[in-house]
Amino acid sequence: MKLHWCALPFIWLLSFEVWANLSSSSSSSQKEDLNKMLGQLTSQLKEDYDLNLLSQIRVLREQSRQLGEKRLHAKSLLLEGLMRQHYGDYKNSLVLHNDALDIVTGMNLPELEAGIYLALAQLEMSLERFRFAQQLLERAYSLITKNVSNEHVSALLAEHALWQGTLHIMRGSYRQALMILESVESKAQQELSSQLALTRAWAYLSIGEHLDASALLKLVSQEQAALKENLRLRVRYKLMSAMAHLQAGQFTDAIKQANKALGETFGTRFLTEQSMLQKILAGAYAQLGDFEQAHLYLKRFAMTEQALNLQKRNNKLLQLEAQYTLAAQKQQLSVLEKDNALQAQQLIQHQQKIDNAHLAQQRGVLGMLLVVLAFGFGYWRWQNKRYLTVLKRQVAERTAELAERNKRLQALSFTDSLTGLNNRHYFFSIIDAQVNTNATTQTSTGEKHEMIFCLLDIDHFKKVNDTYGHAAGDTVLQSVADILKQCTRESDMVIRWGGEEFLIVMPNMTHSEAAEAVERVRRQVECFPFVVNEQAIQATCSIGFAPYPLGNQGGKSLTWEQVLELADNGLYMAKEESRNAWVGLRGLSPPFNAPAEQLISDYKNLINSGHLLATTSYHS
Ligand code: GH3
Ligand code: MG
Ligand code: MG
Repeated sequence: MKLHWCALPFIWLLSFEVWANLSSSSSSSQKEDLNKMLGQLTSQLKEDYDLNLLSQIRVLREQSRQLGEKRLHAKSLLLEGLMRQHYGDYKNSLVLHNDALDIVTGMNLPELEAGIYLALAQLEMSLERFRFAQQLLERAYSLITKNVSNEHVSALLAEHALWQGTLHIMRGSYRQALMILESVESKAQQELSSQLALTRAWAYLSIGEHLDASALLKLVSQEQAALKENLRLRVRYKLMSAMAHLQAGQFTDAIKQANKALGETFGTRFLTEQSMLQKILAGAYAQLGDFEQAHLYLKRFAMTEQALNLQKRNNKLLQLEAQYTLAAQKQQLSVLEKDNALQAQQLIQHQQKIDNAHLAQQRGVLGMLLVVLAFGFGYWRWQNKRYLTVLKRQVAERTAELAERNKRLQALSFTDSLTGLNNRHYFFSIIDAQVNTNATTQTSTGEKHEMIFCLLDIDHFKKVNDTYGHAAGDTVLQSVADILKQCTRESDMVIRWGGEEFLIVMPNMTHSEAAEAVERVRRQVECFPFVVNEQAIQATCSIGFAPYPLGNQGGKSLTWEQVLELADNGLYMAKEESRNAWVGLRGLSPPFNAPAEQLISDYKNLINSGHLLATTSYHS
């Protein structure tokens, strides 16, 4: 005989989790509220599966999800899964349990995980998929023995044994079921131990050992509180009792118990129990010879079985659908994950491309900057060079200009503006060099080539000015200058010495040549037809000259300045004597030797005494 313990709640597991959570030191009042809610829902669910609780379970589920309370979230899913399992909604139940499992996996909550495996095992058993149920039970067992903490191990092992035993019974392995169920030292709560005892009784009854079953049922009957609270437990207790009575030949008792149990199942979804009870009643009535009643219950049994089969088929279909949905969801998830990974990779590649583009752009900009810089630098250098060349040229031009100006300035400063002759500045600037290069040489007649310093002064020039005006005097001065230039050689120097005085320096000239030259000058001036404002002006000049060097062989020679003074003395003499005349000093008559100062100051006496040799244009 097969019995479906489908959707048998193991709510005790949830309640113990709830209290564990309540005692934990959660600081959040919201979390505490949710825990309280879970506690209340769990105990209410334990009493009866009121469908109204579903909306509250949903609220709990949503709030715990929003708070990120994964543990509470998973528990609320499990709770709803159990509720739906109870009402035969295996499809959604399977989805909810799997969702809970997804949340719990990897969170190190072995008690809860094992609980979910056990719930899933029940589900598989309801669908008569025993192989899957066995696998799930094994997973739960492995978790319980390896990971679950000691305090929860025995309770969970009892729970596991209950389901493992049930599975054995459903597969017809009654002895094995008994072995498992008897091995459990049940210190579990009342309800669970009653469940275990009832399952054992079921196994005994399945092999016809109704005495052992009755002994166990007697024990269960003592747990009045559990029986009163739990409808399923109560129904199953009565079902087992009816079966035991039937096997013991106590048909009236069997009918009595079976009817009581049947009464309790009306309006519930305990179809399996109903069909079994109907079968017992049919059997008992048949034994008592009441074939009418037996037939009636047999018919009812057949109908219930039909309904059950239909339900099972539907459940299987729905379950398959759920499995398919789950698989599709998982596949979709994996596709999404792959897609995400691909997108992430594409994103990275894209980012890399952007980075590369940025880098290339930066390099390009840098390169361009360098090119621009290099070009700029080259241009700057080229411009600089060009500017430098221009500057150099300008400097050269300015320097040349300046030199030219200086030259002109110098020329100007060395030139007398009225006559165009060199002035005394010019004379002073070159005379030392001239004197030094002047070499005294002797002629074949014994005369010496010397440098002749010759001073000329216009006679009574004041009168010219006074008579004809200053401008006329200027014209006379210019004409005298022209005469002097004409009467002298290229190598001679004609200087406007100041006022109406001129200096003529004649190098390489003998005394007689000098006398000739000054005579020529005197005559030219005397004869020159000075005409100013159509008026003829008569002008004469007086001249004195002396040679450089001058002095005795043993004595010291006069400096050119002293020679010039001596020439001026000669001029003075000419003026004194007659004007329009000249006096040329030649030198000392040997062996006369006198200092230069004496020659200059006492020149007149020395000439008269014949010590100082002189030539004059007049005859004294
Ligand atoms: P002497 O025969 O003694 O030389 O008589 P002098 O009149 O020439 O006397 P002195 O040499 O002392 O006078 C020179 C005069 O020449 C004085 C001055 O007015 C005149 N004089 C000097 N420089 C210039 C000049 O540049 N232009 C004109 N027109 N006259 C000048
Ligand atoms: Mg004068
Ligand atoms: Mg004069």
